[in-house]
Amino acid sequence: MTNRRSFIKKSVAAGAALGFTACTPRALRLAEKQLNIQHSSRYLPKLRISLDRVVKETVGLRPYRTLGPRIETENLGNTTLVHNYGHGGSGWSLSWGSAAVAADLVDTSWGKEISLATTSLQSSALPPTAARKVAVVGCGVIGLTTARMLQRRGYEVTIYTKAMAPDITSSKATGTWSPTHRLIESDQITDTFRDTFKQMHQTSFLAFQNLLGLGDKVVWTDTYDVRQELRPHGDLPHNDQYAFMNVLPKSKLLNDKEHPFKESVVYRSTSMVFNIPSLLKMYTDDFLRFGGTVKIQEFKRLEDFDALPEKCVVNCTGIGAKKITDDPHLTPISGQLAFVIPQQEVNYRIATKGAYTINRQDGIVVGGTHKMGSWNTTPSREDTEKMVLAIKEVADAMYS
Ligand SMILES: Cc1cc2nc3c(=O)[nH]c(=O)nc-3n(C[C@H](O)[C@H](O)[C@H](O)COP(=O)(O)OP(=O)(O)OC[C@H]3O[C@@H](n4cnc5c(N)ncnc54)[C@H](O)[C@@H]3O)c2cc1C
Repeated sequence: MTNRRSFIKKSVAAGAALGFTACTPRALRLAEKQLNIQHSSRYLPKLRISLDRVVKETVGLRPYRTLGPRIETENLGNTTLVHNYGHGGSGWSLSWGSAAVAADLVDTSWGKEISLATTSLQSSALPPTAARKVAVVGCGVIGLTTARMLQRRGYEVTIYTKAMAPDITSSKATGTWSPTHRLIESDQITDTFRDTFKQMHQTSFLAFQNLLGLGDKVVWTDTYDVRQELRPHGDLPHNDQYAFMNVLPKSKLLNDKEHPFKESVVYRSTSMVFNIPSLLKMYTDDFLRFGGTVKIQEFKRLEDFDALPEKCVVNCTGIGAKKITDDPHLTPISGQLAFVIPQQEVNYRIATKGAYTINRQDGIVVGGTHKMGSWNTTPSREDTEKMVLAIKEVADAMYS
């Protein structure tokens, strides 16, 4: 340490002698900080972020249900209808687990006993007859994972949908592991919900671990939460709140020498990022490769499901379920994203007051809005400016 300090002093002094810099205590501190950062943590390339680098803006409607996702069976004329919608801001994270729970209900409707095996990704037994046809309505992440899960269990599946990627909410998501985000009102959490949640959470987490290593479809990434002051006691990021699941490392308050940000309060946490366009394409390709069919069709009311040739239908229509089912507990929470030209070298995330970034192949995605009850899907320039400028302030001050 003494050697390093004297090396820095000499370097700064030499620089000053050559007219490069002034040998002030501040210059010394900065030089030492930069050297420490390079030695004690990995180098974080600076974000090039500004409004003129924004190339796309989207607004998606999170299908928020105050009672939590609706995954249950309803008998409708000659049809068994299994609902699987209302995943709020957690739909990507819980998709595989939710698909497994819905597939269990489909199994039950065919009179098959649920065993532990059926809640795993792959059923141990094929269905007794080859012609067990199931319809899945909706081609978002919930519809696609449900359809794939049913195929794995031996069903013949047709997806009926009004729209596909990129014109669906699932294409307008940030793509992080956020299994509890805007999922349920806290006073509605029951023991049954807790049990189902645990099951969905575990199945999904495992599914994403199995998608690691396939290029950048799922990757682990660090988030730097940059703040003016310490988090109030008990105000844990939601990953920490669910630490009882023991799936993610705890976040850490960094010391000044472990990060390049100007602010002194910086937490680092590690979590997963999903490459949204790539995963949606892979799920669709897999579905078609295993004999699935996609038909474009809009459903106006519940009775339209009963008119389908399949006698078992899974309703995965996201916020679209509001009009079809008239569910009083379902409401949109809109969220806007601004896509900044991608920087391949950036492999970390920033969160700060009012905005966050996520590094993806298709852009540095900047988000941070939640408008409860809003059906408006037109991007607001004002929201883009607020979010991008909040991140720009943090990014521009890095290494200074
Ligand atoms: C800004 C934002 C950020 C998010 N970030 C994350 C995140 O980081 N992590 C995470 O886990 N989740 C995130 N989410 C939440 C996640 O995107 C949703 O929970 C998820 O996409 C819901 O998927 P879905 O398949 O139910 O809905 P959708 O993707 O909306 O799919 C519904 C499907 O049903 C079809 N459909 C609808 N109505 C009808 C009809 N009447 N007839 C026929 N077909 C119909 C649609 O065309 C579509 O194909 C985010 C959401 C937003 C908006």
